[in-house]
Amino acid sequence: MVACTHLDTVKFVDLPDPLVGCEECLKIGGRWVHLRMCHSCGKIGCCDSSPNRHATAHHNASGHPIVRSAEPGENWSWCYPDELMFRIRSDA
Ligand SMILES: [Zn+2]
Ligand SMILES: [Zn+2]
Ligand SMILES: [Zn+2]
Repeated sequence: MVACTHLDTVKFVDLPDPLVGCEECLKIGGRWVHLRMCHSCGKIGCCDSSPNRHATAHHNASGHPIVRSAEPGENWSWCYPDELMFRIRSDA
């Protein structure tokens, strides 16, 4: 089912509590549309619909392959290198 070969990089599964927002946007006073969390380091970034696309920027800068949605009720993950969407765990 899951063909992602990067699952050994997953260190962070659960969202931080509290979930404050995109770390980089908060530094620069930016706005975001949706939030993503890096599975490798737990960094919160904003999605590609956001002006600054910090989640993808973080992937490009760090090489961390997988992010998950940090939106309420969403638990899908996205692997950039594999261009694959899947669920790591079936919590809601
Ligand atoms: Zn992968
Ligand atoms: Zn951002
Ligand atoms: Zn990361």
